[in-house]
Amino acid sequence: MGKTVLEAKELCKTYIVDKYSNNVLRNVDFKLNEGEFTAIMGPSGSGKSTLLYTLSGMDEVTSGSVLFDGKDISIMNHKQLSNLRLNEMGFVFQQMYMLKKLCILDNIILPGYQTSKASKTEVNDRARKLMHNLGIESIAQNEIFEVSGGQLQRACLCRALINSPKILFADEPTGALNSKASTEVMKELRKANSEGMTILMVTHSEKVAASSERVVFLVDGNIKGELYLGKQEDDSDGLVRERKLKIWLDEMGW
Ligand code: ADP
Ligand code: MG
Repeated sequence: MGKTVLEAKELCKTYIVDKYSNNVLRNVDFKLNEGEFTAIMGPSGSGKSTLLYTLSGMDEVTSGSVLFDGKDISIMNHKQLSNLRLNEMGFVFQQMYMLKKLCILDNIILPGYQTSKASKTEVNDRARKLMHNLGIESIAQNEIFEVSGGQLQRACLCRALINSPKILFADEPTGALNSKASTEVMKELRKANSEGMTILMVTHSEKVAASSERVVFLVDGNIKGELYLGKQEDDSDGLVRERKLKIWLDEMGW
């Protein structure tokens, strides 16, 4: 068993809209080990995005706690939390917060310049390499509004990876992609994971989830079950993994 990087204890999240309270997460207990690649699946509205937001400190919990490296993030002040996010976490979320005034490349390198982890040259080189691996090097100088949704999604991933975060949170990172681009993204994520990055990803795609090591199934704000697939070393057993996952999801009532 590896070291736990992220842990949720009795995590609850309730949204109150027009006096009605919606208990989106109900007592979630969850652990993520260092270097683990986990996928979260579940019906639409089951709380997957909310789980990612609360685990990453983007949103506050209603009760319970979230520990990052054993430290409770809900008692961190704004500065501690933003340092943690900048240096240790990467995010690919559905609402993509790209800056409209910057070109794609500048958006990607910006978080790199905001830390002292690497020199500007190193950040630039890494950005170029990531863009190349994800097949979007040609849009480096483009404005945000000049590129497709799929290109923008890959640019967001490049930006999330620029600081080599300890943990990457990705909410449907292939949601806007065709199968070729999706394969490139999964290849890059597996590579990052093989180099030690911990990844927590939400996906609807069985093919994408089959690339992960463990699949957690969320229903009505609760973890209903999990399937351990083990690390995928190469593409050759992709179909077998996908099949295993499909059978399990069927048992889960997917
Ligand atoms: P999923 O990602 O699994 O589709 P979400 O976590 O996005 O599910 O949403 C779960 C539930 O929480 C939904 O009923 C949604 O309407 C509600 N919800 C999500 N975000 C908010 C918010 N900011 N304010 C109020 N309700 C929200
Ligand atoms: Mg969602």
